[in-house]
Amino acid sequence: MSDNTTNNKPIVNFIRHQIDDDLNAKLYNGIQTRFPPEPNGYLHIGHAKSICLNFGLAKDYKGKCNLRFDDTNPAKEALEFVESIKNDVQWLGFDWEAEVRYSSSYFSKFYQYAIELINKDLAYVCFLNAEETREYRGTLKEAGKNSPHRETTKADNLALLAQMKEGKFSEGECVLRAKIDMASPFMCMRDPALYRIRFDKHHQTSNEWRIYPMYDFAHCISDAIEGVTHSLCTLEFQDNRRLYDWVLENLDDFNRPNRPHQYEFSRLNLEYTVMSKRKLQQLVEDNLVSGWDDPRLPTLSGLRRRGYTAASIRDFIDRIGISKVDSMTDMAILEAAVRDDLNAVAPRTMGVIDPIKVIIENYPETQVETLQAPIHPQNEAMGKREIFFSRVLYIDRADFEEIAPNKKFKRLAIGKEVRLRNAYVINATTFDTDFDGNVTTVYATYDPETLGKNPADGRKVKGVIHFVEASRAIEAEFRLYDRLFTLENPGKNEHFEQLLNPKSLVTTYGFVEPSMKNAKPEQAYQFEREGYFCRDNAAEAEGKYIVFNKTVGLRDTWSN
Ligand code: ATP
Ligand code: MG
Repeated sequence: MSDNTTNNKPIVNFIRHQIDDDLNAKLYNGIQTRFPPEPNGYLHIGHAKSICLNFGLAKDYKGKCNLRFDDTNPAKEALEFVESIKNDVQWLGFDWEAEVRYSSSYFSKFYQYAIELINKDLAYVCFLNAEETREYRGTLKEAGKNSPHRETTKADNLALLAQMKEGKFSEGECVLRAKIDMASPFMCMRDPALYRIRFDKHHQTSNEWRIYPMYDFAHCISDAIEGVTHSLCTLEFQDNRRLYDWVLENLDDFNRPNRPHQYEFSRLNLEYTVMSKRKLQQLVEDNLVSGWDDPRLPTLSGLRRRGYTAASIRDFIDRIGISKVDSMTDMAILEAAVRDDLNAVAPRTMGVIDPIKVIIENYPETQVETLQAPIHPQNEAMGKREIFFSRVLYIDRADFEEIAPNKKFKRLAIGKEVRLRNAYVINATTFDTDFDGNVTTVYATYDPETLGKNPADGRKVKGVIHFVEASRAIEAEFRLYDRLFTLENPGKNEHFEQLLNPKSLVTTYGFVEPSMKNAKPEQAYQFEREGYFCRDNAAEAEGKYIVFNKTVGLRDTWSN
């Protein structure tokens, strides 16, 4: 039985029920799954659902999970993608059984199984062109027609397949098809193609092969060769399950009750983004984003660069669960998961994202005071950090108004006191503006008796704002992100690339505490009152400041 637990609560889903039933019926001695990416792009958060499911089940049931590259289309695949996928799976916290697998390492076996099908009169070489093939296939309402090549003899088909393999035919001239049923209500069963001709160089097998197996032929056989028990895929393959079963049931090596079986679950769709690799690739190639790891993308490398932790992504996948219902998932759920993770672990610091100067007129000119601030107010064990205070400070533009608009206003205004976080209470007296009327400097006084305590005369100071001391502050660039698209489901639109949100990246320049000089990439910080940020080394190579990516704000701003 499963010992699956997350926060000690078992998560039950239909796949686990199936596995439990199969194990109880002694159909298998143990379970084996696989994660089968095609190396034609970087992994996205949808893949994380499949990774967590496949590797998670193997872990919980003490089974095995292979990482198998489904590399049967040389035209679209590349080693860069193989490497990034391995990297992302490991970053997410999973490891595959033994060595990495490649469908391409079974190419000779697929070929032998194709010969077996021809010998059983279950496959034939077909010379209809693409248009004719479509015409012969029929429609959902109308049965198809048999290809004129359907009755070619076994001997001739064997010879033709060998010629295909030797490169005697051009791309598209012929295909090997399964001989099933041109009247099947399932279109995928109307004599589907098993092999096609491709002359591209393959990243693993170079120019050894001229014919490449189709997904429906290669996938089930790869599963069976590896001993996969539960082959989990997304709902769009539901009909193809018939073909999966047909292939395995017609091959002597695999026609047994404990062969692999396919189960489908719904894919993850996230609002305000696109998830298909083809669309992501288009954004990358058209330079509409900075690369596959652009922090606005839902790729694992983008999320990671943005500051998402592997734990938060796994938690998100747990929160959404596994089902057969197709839906769009609210981005707020993903953000809540990372916020919950970072809230517990992220060290606190102060950063001023849109700075204005504050001059404390009653503070000694040359003095710089060192103060102590907790690294995490709810976790004393994380210790304290040094911050500084002097006559010149920076605060955020949004934290000052000339006149407090109402009684609830908890920031700085002329004549209205506020506490500087981890420091003193100050009171604003006057301010300067630039030619456009923007505030540049606020003049204030501080109350020296208010460090770590309320004013002695009982004055109530409710507001707290953050600041950074000017002389030691480090200048920093902040990259603030918003949804990448302006529509909930941009992928539905043919010209989705025209729906990009022009404010998806806003860059500002401000200041951070001096200790942030040593901040490491992927280490999350909470800039108090602003949100969670992490340093971006890659971006720093381009400019002169240290750069922080905003991972997520402190509160949900999506569902407003
Ligand atoms: P895409 O449509 O993004 O190109 P794909 O299905 O072509 O995705 P593969 O590399 O073939 O990408 O996917 C590897 C595995 O990840 C498959 O088992 C696939 O079902 C699963 N997968 C892909 N996208 C999602 C998603 N959005 N939600 C859940 N699983 C997914
Ligand atoms: Mg695919």
